[in-house]
Amino acid sequence: MQEPVAAQNILVLSKLLKSPPDKLSELVTPHVAVLRASKRAASSLNGQWTLCFIANLLARMLPLVDKVYLDFDDEKVTRPIPLLEGRNFREALIQLCAAIDAGVTALPGRPTKGETVIEISVGPAQGRANVEVASDGWLVFLNKGVEPGPSSNPVGAYLAACLAVAELFKHFLKSSGLTANLKRPIALHQATQFSTFDYSIGRPEAPNPALPTGAKLGPVLIAGVGSGGSATILTLASMPGAAGPFAFVDPDEVVERNIQRLPFATAEDAHTRRRKVAIAGGLIQQCTGEQCILREKPYQECREEMRSLGFLDLVVGTVHTGAARREIQKDLPRVLLDAAATQNGEAIIRRVFFGDSACMGCFYPRDTVYAEDKVLSQVLGLEIEEIEYLRSTNARFTEDQVRRMKGRGVDHLPEVGEPYGDWRQKCAQLPLFVESSSTEVPAPFVTAAAGVLLAGEIIKERLFRNSVLRSLLLLDTLGRFSPAYPCFRGTEKCDICGDPDMLNVYKERWC
Ligand SMILES: [Zn+2]
Repeated sequence: MQEPVAAQNILVLSKLLKSPPDKLSELVTPHVAVLRASKRAASSLNGQWTLCFIANLLARMLPLVDKVYLDFDDEKVTRPIPLLEGRNFREALIQLCAAIDAGVTALPGRPTKGETVIEISVGPAQGRANVEVASDGWLVFLNKGVEPGPSSNPVGAYLAACLAVAELFKHFLKSSGLTANLKRPIALHQATQFSTFDYSIGRPEAPNPALPTGAKLGPVLIAGVGSGGSATILTLASMPGAAGPFAFVDPDEVVERNIQRLPFATAEDAHTRRRKVAIAGGLIQQCTGEQCILREKPYQECREEMRSLGFLDLVVGTVHTGAARREIQKDLPRVLLDAAATQNGEAIIRRVFFGDSACMGCFYPRDTVYAEDKVLSQVLGLEIEEIEYLRSTNARFTEDQVRRMKGRGVDHLPEVGEPYGDWRQKCAQLPLFVESSSTEVPAPFVTAAAGVLLAGEIIKERLFRNSVLRSLLLLDTLGRFSPAYPCFRGTEKCDICGDPDMLNVYKERWC
């Protein structure tokens, strides 16, 4: 989910690798967050979805936050919500945070006097919260002082949660005096309305269409079930009666180090090293009854099978690297969707109209992939061919490799046996610059936002095809939203969509 190094500052990358991992906890005093809800928010499906996703993300944000008070009355769970167990909503949220077990405690009620708190409210709070959020269908309202609306839609509700947590993140950094360290301007939102349907800001141009119950979304193949893919799966699992077929492909398992960035994982998954595809398939089956096809291997090793099963119609390529995205693109899926996060806190989603808008070969030309390998080779002291192999196959670091990396001033060393992508993927984190080095803060809301919007694109592809994204959307979670999103055209220089043979094969197959 990380952009290749060409899109970042190469210096940032090498500095990140050389900063001590525990520096952040010395800089930040953990905050107390208060999660409030209007009566309607706590008892409606849209409100419960938003509250649940806020609690889920906050539970993964130590050391910025260590305690979350749930300041609203307990209500019944309106309908099954992925990851939530039990019938009483507030009690179930407390259990969810305990199950994630990443150092953040959730408890009912209000903090005692004297604790400095940052407050977030789902539904109106009469100005008594730092952030107010709500959703209605595809629409998200920030600081508008409105209640969640009647049109249930997990895409709007979950994006509302991501944006609310982004606002809280800004408050955390401000009150710690660390905003300047991000090296980019941040802006708090005034009253704002955003449509996850047509991406408009303010009054939407398109309608806010209701979601049917029991819509067929498949076939959908999700290759790469990481931070973005797991948010996509949580969103699809939340949609009442979403029907497949769905296929999930990812060789990796959950370990303690990646729990902060995987919104569908709990501590139990890390302890048992559960495969990510097993969690994805379990959630979809539990919520929709749909049996999914699960492959615990890299995409490259099951591409023929996926083709023969008809899964190249709609592919979500949330894989680790640009090189892996290029591989998927070369198989010429009818529609390829992808998500990424930048180190500036921007969530990006892309959709490829092959032969028209830019393809993954245009976004990830061969030479930028090579440039990243070169930088890593210099910083780590491994041969460039070794890096290329690790990256392209998401192989595990060997004992010999880790030994050779020691003594080069690299503090974020991989563990022996850790998959390359797990180590390299810092995408739920943002760099924070302190003096000459940099450290990282957890920002799981960035990739989660991209993943939720991708689920919206899958739904639109099947139900509202005239409204799909044309090429690329960039949502700056830390700044102001830009109303314009560009259409990147394919280029003749591209070795995939600029190749006439590729175009012919695509046309014969799909047009
Ligand atoms: Zn291209």
